[in-house]
Amino acid sequence: MLGTVEPTPFDLRFSLFGIPVRVHPFFWLFSAILGWGDGHDLKLTLLWVACVFVSILIHELGHALTALAYGWPPHIVLYSFGGYASFTPSWGYTTARSVIVLFAGPGAGFILYVIVYVLEKLLVQQQVELSKYAIETFHNMEFINLWWGLVNLLPVYPLDGGQICRALATHWRPRAGVDLSLKVSLAVGIGMAFYLFHRGMTFNALLFASLAFDNVQSLQGGRFR
Ligand SMILES: [Zn+2]
Repeated sequence: MLGTVEPTPFDLRFSLFGIPVRVHPFFWLFSAILGWGDGHDLKLTLLWVACVFVSILIHELGHALTALAYGWPPHIVLYSFGGYASFTPSWGYTTARSVIVLFAGPGAGFILYVIVYVLEKLLVQQQVELSKYAIETFHNMEFINLWWGLVNLLPVYPLDGGQICRALATHWRPRAGVDLSLKVSLAVGIGMAFYLFHRGMTFNALLFASLAFDNVQSLQGGRFR
């Protein structure tokens, strides 16, 4: 629903359930950087990238299939630090539908989390011997789909939670809603940056600090992104 990322000759393109999907080369690069450092085992890094790919794709499909169900043809772009499902709510737009489409991304991830978690428990219960890579796959999938989904629901713009907050605030206060949601976003963003920094998660802290900075700029400019 946000912005557009220019196509490159290195994009991977395919379609799923009739929905066009484009993967920007930065998606692979940033995912690999995030998964780097596991004892320099390249296989673990590749496994992590594969888990991020499947998880983000399911997340965006959650948004896209819900939008499609409302008759808004979507397309998906995977880019650095995630991606987006883009569509134009050409008709029948309501705040409730918008919130449902936004929640469907993390929601799809939570369903995947439960499936992976139950599968892992079943295999352990059946005393199936899992390889190091199988265990790593389970842990990656559980971590990404549960924790990234929860963080994504924080009311920080432009995360899904921030967009839900904006949709609700503008429904409630059509004029002041955007500013109101940006102020909530700024407060939570700064709070998260301090909290994560305090916990020694510098990279994540910087991510929230940069989102908070974007929000300050939007507030000052009084403009939409
Ligand atoms: Zn999303």
